Amino acid sequence: MRKPIIAGNWKMNNTKADTAELLTALKPLVKDAKAEVVVCVPYTAIDTAANIIKGSNIKLGAENVHWAEKGAFTGEISVKMLVELGVEYVIIGHSERRQYFGETDETVNMRAKAALAGGLKPIICVGETLAEREAGKTDEVVIRQTTGAFKDIDKSELDKIVIAYEPVWAIGTGKTATSEEANATIKVIRDTVAKLYCRDCAETKVRIQYGGSMNPKNAAELMAQPEIDGGLIGGASLKAVDFSQVVKY
Ligand code: PEP
Repeated sequence: MRKPIIAGNWKMNNTKADTAELLTALKPLVKDAKAEVVVCVPYTAIDTAANIIKGSNIKLGAENVHWAEKGAFTGEISVKMLVELGVEYVIIGHSERRQYFGETDETVNMRAKAALAGGLKPIICVGETLAEREAGKTDEVVIRQTTGAFKDIDKSELDKIVIAYEPVWAIGTGKTATSEEANATIKVIRDTVAKLYCRDCAETKVRIQYGGSMNPKNAAELMAQPEIDGGLIGGASLKAVDFSQVVKY
């Protein structure tokens, strides 16, 4: 019912030359994938990536976008600039942006609304830190982040939105939430969407990924969980073979 979606988050990795090499290797490895395949790449690699994946089943994503149409925002990038390059998806509110660059639930919401208005599909990241988890606040945090991210977003936009549940303590650490834990928290997120909109909207329109040290070894087990619709993949997306094995979990 909900098409699985596996997205790579390259973060600040890969030059244009690295991008060409990686995507040229990846294309044939994922060409028969049943899941939707997305690579979210640094701005400087978007053009190269777009040329290489043209005509393939790999879709293009960016790693952030600003909410303003244009103007005096040094170092930022607009929706229009990304759309012009063929970008379809954009990661918003990744925990590294929340942690190091002052991203808040409010700015996540502003970016998500701008992305949707300009024709981009947001991949909105939510997830608790280790301290929040240990304080028993996981559900509270993801409910707050999800509610904040969806403020003033119309029901008609829901099928364009992907949520990535990424427990911060599992990102890049080799630690994964157990598949049951991930499933349970994703259910909390889905119930939040149901409360904000409707049960059917939550069940049929919004896809929710798991992210956090997902790799070829644990992908099948995570993807077997009923609430998990895909993965946002950091480290394992930087190697064509590893990423293709996650895609084909
Ligand atoms: C991420 O950065 O979104 C991520 C999930 O990273 P990793 O797979 O390396 O934990």
